Amino acid sequence: ATPGRPSNQELMLEEILSDALNQPVSGEVANYIPALAMVNPNHCGIAIATLDGEVHTAGDADIPFSIQSVSKIFGLVLAMGRMGDDLWHRVHMEPSGHAFNSIVQLEWEHGIPRNPFINAGAIVVADTLTSHYSASKAAMVNFVRSLANKDDIHINQDVYQSEKIHGNRNAALAYLMKSFANIESEVEDVLDHYFFQCSIEMSCRNLARSLGFLANRGMQPGTGDQICTRRDAHRVNAILSTSGMYDQSGEFAFTVGLPAKSGVGGGIVAVVPNYGVICAWSPRLNQFGNSCLGMSMITRLAEKLGLSVY
Ligand code: GLN
Repeated sequence: ATPGRPSNQELMLEEILSDALNQPVSGEVANYIPALAMVNPNHCGIAIATLDGEVHTAGDADIPFSIQSVSKIFGLVLAMGRMGDDLWHRVHMEPSGHAFNSIVQLEWEHGIPRNPFINAGAIVVADTLTSHYSASKAAMVNFVRSLANKDDIHINQDVYQSEKIHGNRNAALAYLMKSFANIESEVEDVLDHYFFQCSIEMSCRNLARSLGFLANRGMQPGTGDQICTRRDAHRVNAILSTSGMYDQSGEFAFTVGLPAKSGVGGGIVAVVPNYGVICAWSPRLNQFGNSCLGMSMITRLAEKLGLSVY
């Protein structure tokens, strides 16, 4: 691309963004903690980081937002590296068919969560990180910084403190799992790690860049570092496809056809194997906790470029 002039990809992203902004407003900003309820609901951005190192963006793609459940990907990759296949005795790999913070299945299924992308599963993953690292929170933030190749990635202290104060449901999940001996560490420490990782802030650009290895058989584009094995990259993408968009994962596979993960901060990342990673952000959420405009922008983009992996 000529410096200073938008590339074809950027023009396409601008068009997708302006179509999204012209839609009737729908959805509500996450309001379970005050720090998220205060976010400007009108933000909207999108970025595509391709495997050749290019990043194309439109809108608010450089404003950091609370990555929330998107952090479950980083936690899972770290835990898979540390635990190997033992991890899968502690958490399964099936879609839940329930809301992301649901507790009911856990009792029937003896404290083993359905998958690592619902809260219960991510809390088990956080437990394994708490036991395998002497400083799991630092390990997590350093991992994210090295993937994004950026030192200025931080957690939002207001969100972190707010998550702790309003974390009763996550505490209930953790205590129930502890009663089934599926939490090893102290519940307080596990939740502290979980709330910390949810409170990491990143922009669409940096989130898309950081996850390139999932589109590239485990190898980070640019640095050539092998972040996880090829097998694990395939496995993470498989669980993202079936469970990353919670109880809307089936519809997302049907309409978009990409492994993807959403967070209640309004971010969605979608992995396009052998091509790159898309990240969209807009804070208003639908009833499943997925970003309304994020979903529609990624859907349009996947249709336009024919990206479905199916
Ligand atoms: N912090 C949120 C929670 O634990 C994360 C959930 C999400 O992003 N879906 O409820």
